[in-house]
Amino acid sequence: MEQGCIFCDIVNGKTETKFLYEDDILAVFRDINPHAPVHLLIVPKKHIRSVNDLSGENKDIVSHMIMVGKDMALQENVNISGYKLLLNVEKGGGQVIFHIHLHLLGGWERK
Ligand code: 5GP
Ligand code: ZN
Repeated sequence: MEQGCIFCDIVNGKTETKFLYEDDILAVFRDINPHAPVHLLIVPKKHIRSVNDLSGENKDIVSHMIMVGKDMALQENVNISGYKLLLNVEKGGGQVIFHIHLHLLGGWERK
């Protein structure tokens, strides 16, 4: 848990943010400023700054984020129409919250 990190506060239940899914490894919630009809954030409970800070010991977390992303796409009914799973990396890559997170974007053309 990193002091002053909004995503640490959210995934540790210190805010009012509603979770669509939660387990020991991560939590999923809606983006506060959605860029698509469906815009979820898949956020590990461990504070990792960005993709650049990943090491081999984090590989289970990363694969779990992707698997949960797939399951959430089904739950949000965008699995057939299609969706994006996106990681912004550092400032030039569009990252503004420096706690790693996977975006799930979809729903433009729901089946
Ligand atoms: P990034 O640009 O870092 O990849 O994405 C950060 C995302 O977090 C943005 O899409 C932004 O709207 C979202 N966000 C920032 N603060 C909050 C918050 O307090 N609650 C929620 N639900 N989303 C947030
Ligand atoms: Zn954090």
